[in-house]
Amino acid sequence: MRCELCGKEDRLQRVIIEGTEMMVCSSCAAYGKPVAVPKRKVPVSIPSSKKEYYGKDIFEKMDKEIVPDWGKRIRKARENRGLTRQQLGAMIGEKTNTVAKIENQELRPSDEKAKKIEKLLNIVLFHDVKPAIIKKKDVRGLTIGDLLKKDE
Ligand SMILES: [Zn+2]
Repeated sequence: MRCELCGKEDRLQRVIIEGTEMMVCSSCAAYGKPVAVPKRKVPVSIPSSKKEYYGKDIFEKMDKEIVPDWGKRIRKARENRGLTRQQLGAMIGEKTNTVAKIENQELRPSDEKAKKIEKLLNIVLFHDVKPAIIKKKDVRGLTIGDLLKKDE
């Protein structure tokens, strides 16, 4: 590239000289005003902890689903441990009322919350979802109980 002012071969830079945008060499650039180069889009950097979270979340959405009887499982496990709803609520940062709703299946816990409950109560709340693998004729012979057992 040649300087539009003096014709010298050089690394050119974009400047405004007397209202005109020009590509000029470094010595000619001194006569003009540098053009504000539009900022390159900086890729949004996700903190690594968040990245892991997103990755996991996507993974769960693809292959894992909360079990259909999450409320029952949570209540049973909680009672087995002699915990009140209030105590469990305190452990997972939810109100007693919310725990009751989750146990009554009026409220689906967030994946994050459900994971926490899984760990705290040592229960399984997510199961693999691979509908493509289960053939129709295989499903017919299975009860819901069988399906649930298979997932554990
Ligand atoms: Zn020049």
